Amino acid sequence: MGSDLDETDLDAFLGQEGATLTAPDPVNAAMIHHWCQVFGNGNRSYLDADFARSSRFGQIIAPAAMAQVWMMGEYGQSPPADSIAELYSLLDDLGYTAIVATNSQQTYHRPVYLADQLRSTRRIVAISDEKRTRLGTGRFITNEIEVVEGSGKVVAKQILRHFKFRPQQSATPPAAAPPVKPRPRPALTSDIEFYFNGARAGQLLIQRCNECGDLQHPPWPACSSCRSLSLHPEPMSGGGELYSFTVIHSPTIQPFEPPYVVALVALDEGPRVVAGLIGIEPGDVKIGTRLQAEIVQFDEELALPMFRPATSRDSQVSGAAREYKTLSPQEIRLGTRLPELTIPITHTFITAGALATRDFQPVHHDTAYAVARGLSNVITNIWTTHGVISRFLTDWSGPEAMITGVDLRLGDSNYPGDVLTLSGQVSEIAVGTDPGDTVVTVEFKGDNGRSVHVAGSATLSLLESTLVTSDAERID
Ligand code: ZN
Repeated sequence: MGSDLDETDLDAFLGQEGATLTAPDPVNAAMIHHWCQVFGNGNRSYLDADFARSSRFGQIIAPAAMAQVWMMGEYGQSPPADSIAELYSLLDDLGYTAIVATNSQQTYHRPVYLADQLRSTRRIVAISDEKRTRLGTGRFITNEIEVVEGSGKVVAKQILRHFKFRPQQSATPPAAAPPVKPRPRPALTSDIEFYFNGARAGQLLIQRCNECGDLQHPPWPACSSCRSLSLHPEPMSGGGELYSFTVIHSPTIQPFEPPYVVALVALDEGPRVVAGLIGIEPGDVKIGTRLQAEIVQFDEELALPMFRPATSRDSQVSGAAREYKTLSPQEIRLGTRLPELTIPITHTFITAGALATRDFQPVHHDTAYAVARGLSNVITNIWTTHGVISRFLTDWSGPEAMITGVDLRLGDSNYPGDVLTLSGQVSEIAVGTDPGDTVVTVEFKGDNGRSVHVAGSATLSLLESTLVTSDAERID
């Protein structure tokens, strides 16, 4: 069908501006909270009004990565019938019925505050010739989006590239994500199930005796100090120190990937816990290292407390405001590695990420729909990728670092069963335009266990004057 397409038909769309999209709701705490919860982002500048008031921002800000989320269409609403819709529907008619986002370059010009009323405009700036990719044959469409607040000030700009393509209808089904053996289930008894249920609820729970007050682990029906049968599970801070460890090199049993580290962690509260160690190369592990618990959700059912080297974050594990200080430029060197962030990709996470970013495209929740379009299952949306990168950056930099730009290229899609690991390092440190401002560039990569899902770079602004808050000092 597409072969008789006259290029000038498409060229006519270049430079055309689509309808102005107005955010249905002003920027609000509920949507920010929901977004942070799904992506496990505990940045206090987004979530904690008291903290934000005394921060460089002076008030709560919205995650910059949500810039485009506010204008996403509401459920059941069709996109406006503008020139852009006309272009995409023309491409549908030409057989390019499938779509994936491939690149997003966002620059953030000013923080977005609660009650900001945002709107956006969009233009088509490039339409490629027909290209053949692994997904199929299609065309890259480049959109330029500008987000402004009520008075017309630009808050963000974005270059967003889509690939509109003919899904491959070959007899051989598309390469499916390799079947991943689920992690073995714990053998639950009534004495120990609180530990695993606690993990599913995001907590590290340890037994405390109601009679003598001692903590004990592993769980046992009676208190090992006073023999009392009256015990209750109590949430721990998650802080601790590496007491001992072993590196497992063999056997190779799916889904474990040797070498990996099994740690004996001395919790700050006293008990020692055996758990996996993450976010560090086995060769770099040292006894006495400060550790922080992190609940890792392996699949729909199984969550386990794991530990990672403590950076400057505090005790809470995810989704709630975390207390941790902002890095000072002196703590950052060229080549500084960011702590890795591991995100298990489940169907629930894919759909939750789509909904938290108000993206109702069936390809993010409906497996049959996705398969009919040449994919092997539902995939994460590009706004989810922005969401996890945002967390990866400020988990490291702290809440008063301001993300000023993210430039990402999407590679292989994330499917249920993948585990996305984000890594990165500082590639440039420069003096910013404002007094005391340092601009740090981070090159990042996200590997989903099969191939590279995303790669790109981001810039953060660190202000000398507001580096350490009194709250943060208390933590250290
Ligand atoms: Zn006791």
